[in-house]
Order: sequence, then structure tokens, then C-alpha cells
Amino acid sequence: MQNPFDLSGKVALVTGANTGLGQALAVGLAAAGADIAAVGRSTPDETKAEVKALGRKFHFIKADLGDASVVGDVMDAAVQNLGTVDILVNNAGTIKRNDALDFTEDEWDTVMNVNLKTAFFLSQAFARHVTGADKGGSIINIASMLSFQGGIRVASYTASKSGIAGLTKLLANEWASKRINVNAIAPGYFATNNTTALRADEKRNAEILGRIPAGRWGQPSDLSGAAVFLASEAGAYVHGAVIPVDGGWLAR
Ligand code: NAP
Repeated sequence: MQNPFDLSGKVALVTGANTGLGQALAVGLAAAGADIAAVGRSTPDETKAEVKALGRKFHFIKADLGDASVVGDVMDAAVQNLGTVDILVNNAGTIKRNDALDFTEDEWDTVMNVNLKTAFFLSQAFARHVTGADKGGSIINIASMLSFQGGIRVASYTASKSGIAGLTKLLANEWASKRINVNAIAPGYFATNNTTALRADEKRNAEILGRIPAGRWGQPSDLSGAAVFLASEAGAYVHGAVIPVDGGWLAR
């Protein structure tokens, strides 16, 4: 029987793949057989080496995803270098912390543009590409615990991650019939650059760890299995789901 999690022959476009969760997602998809188009600002040398070591192709597309107008060029570059793209992972994201009373328009726009606006328009470019090629595909959005909860001092981040959960369901409703699976993974608390400040704050660190049933911060590689599942034949009938990978955080 064929392995239902096999991604051989597929191409995955992963945003923000130079570090953290995006790096682990790219390497995890490559380990399952996919070639990787990495999109972002910083050159992903480490990710490239890991993907190549797995025997997969790797192509880097330099782009600032704070500007949604780049999406057409990004898709074109991926297709030119690796062929039809089958999987899109909207992972690139940023966060700004400030009291809601003091929150600036720049702190709002910077986060919303990368986390929500570009994620939507890149999904649109991807969907036009696969439907144009008469193929299906998978979109995996990276959501957050703040797709379900309010958080504090992160107004634009919470709005963007609640928005991405809603958008995941809307796009699933519109595109499931076009053989495009749109789903999201909601990571709990993971040890990456994004959470350096939280982990460095002894009080917050202890509070967070005390609430995670698994008793530890997530490691980026903890996310890969869910992504491979959603991108593969095994997840073919999964549409519009926001799947927590959180060590049990939401169960508390
Ligand atoms: P990270 O280590 O800070 O990585 C963020 C990635 O996004 C980096 O590759 C970064 O590129 C890229 N990025 C940010 N702004 C960009 C822009 N304007 N243009 C292009 N790329 C940009 O954070 P992470 O923890 O791996 O986060 C990855 C995703 O998971 C984000 O969507 C985040 O919200 C989400 N998430 C993380 C956690 C967690 O606990 N870590 C929990 C829930 C959700 P540069 O390196 O060039 O800045």
C-alpha cells in the first residue's frame, strides 16, 4: 500500500522558512518528500542545507511580505524554478507588544500586513495558480492560541490570528470544491525568536509552563507532523480545520 503521508513529487512554498517554526515546517515537508520554495527577507542557509541533505530541491525567493503586491512575482519565481506548486504554508509572522491605550497605527499595520493581508493575497495567487493548472492543492495557515483567546498587549497580533482562523474557514468554504484543502495549525507556546521575551521573563515563563499539560515549551519539530498530515493524501477530507498543536494548553 502507498504511504498516505508521502509528499514525493510535490512542491511546497513556505514563507518565513529561515528560522523557527517555518524552518521546521520546511524541513518536515522535505523529509516527507516535497521540494521547497522558501520565501522571506533573510537568506535561509541553514534550512537550505537541511533540505538538500534530505535529497530535495530548494529555491529561495527574497521578498518582504509586509507588502502584499509581491505575491504575483513570488508565485511566478516558485513555478519557474520548481514547477507547479502544490502546497502553500503561510507561516511568516510578526508581533508587536504595547498597551491597547498606546498602540500605534504602525504597530497595527506592520503586523496585520504580514500576518493577514499578505497571507490572504498569497493564498489567492496560489489558488489561481493551481486552478489554472487544473490541479488541487493544500494551504496551511499558521494560526495561534490567540486565534481562540484574547491575549494581552498584542492587539494587532490577536486581530491577525483571529482573522486567519476565520479566513481559513471562509477559503475552505469557497475552495474545497476546487480540490484545495485550506486548514490552519494553531501552535501553542514554542521556543523560537517570537517568544524570546516571554521565556526570558521568569514570572511569565513559570506561569506559561504551569499551564501546559505536557510540561514543556514546544520544539519547532513538534509541528511538522500536523503539516505533513494536512498536505498529504491522509488529510484529503480535512477542510477548514484549525488544529491546535499546543501540549494540551487549550484543554486546561
Ligand atoms: P520567528 O522565529 O520570529 O520567525 C518569523 C518568520 O517570519 C521569520 O522567518 C521572519 O523573517 C518572517 N517574517 C516576519 N516578517 C516578515 C516580512 N515582513 N517579510 C518576510 N518575512 C517575514 O517566529 P516563529 O515563532 O517561528 O513564528 C512563525 C509563525 O508561527 C508566525 O506566524 C507566528 O505568529 C506563529 N506562531 C508562533 C508561536 C510560537 O510560540 N513561537 C505560537 C503561535 C504562532 P526574518 O527572520 O527575516 O524576520
